[in-house]
Amino acid sequence: MAERKPLIAGNWKMFKTGDEALETSKKLADLVGQVTTVDMMIAPSYTSLAMVSTILQNTNIGLSAQNMHWENKGAYTGEVSSKMLVSAGCQYVILGHSERRQYFNETDDQINKKIHAAIESGLKPVFCVGETENERNLNKTFSVLDNQIEIGLKGLDIDQSKKVIIAYEPVWAIGTGKSATDDQAQEVHAYLRKCMVNMFNDEIASTMRILYGGSVKPNNIKGIMAMPDIDGALVGGASLDADQFSSIIKYQ
Ligand code: PEP
Repeated sequence: MAERKPLIAGNWKMFKTGDEALETSKKLADLVGQVTTVDMMIAPSYTSLAMVSTILQNTNIGLSAQNMHWENKGAYTGEVSSKMLVSAGCQYVILGHSERRQYFNETDDQINKKIHAAIESGLKPVFCVGETENERNLNKTFSVLDNQIEIGLKGLDIDQSKKVIIAYEPVWAIGTGKSATDDQAQEVHAYLRKCMVNMFNDEIASTMRILYGGSVKPNNIKGIMAMPDIDGALVGGASLDADQFSSIIKYQ
């Protein structure tokens, strides 16, 4: 079986002013900055990226944005490009988060354009997919995911696909305190990995990191990470607190 180094990622959403982001990132750098057993990254808001980048410089903690536009530049008031993220110090970008899909009507086609642009700029996209509670109850989980990945990853060649990290985030588990069970998550991760064989090849399927996201906390991370097809976590609420997030990072 291929070795996949786990990635523990923190999505700070629209929380923390610049000062607060600096304070939390400094504390996190002290607590886990030199950890090498897992890859780590945090995704502060746009306004804190450049500042937080200076704190993370001599640590193993990566920097991510939470979104971006697919064009490099242009008359798109209020938008931020992948090149701007790179110049602010980012190595990752979260794309297609369910909150972007739900509240900002982001479509699979737009997410696909963003994934292409991110890779072109040297960023690693953390591509979020997941079904709603209603879709799960109607047994549509796999067909929803099929659609999201077929459109989201459309047109990527093998080399480009090597940059992609998938985050399976069931919408009903995000911010609800109701995490998927380890088995529920594993079932979907195994399915997504099989899809990667069909879309790309065996090597891509066995090396691509697939993270789980949805109410990951210090008390459930160990069980989640014990699943064979789960390669890390995308953590929202519990990543806002340096102590909680560091104990998730140190789950082993
Ligand atoms: C998220 O924002 O991606 C997320 C998984 O949030 P939470 O951990 O709070 O459920």
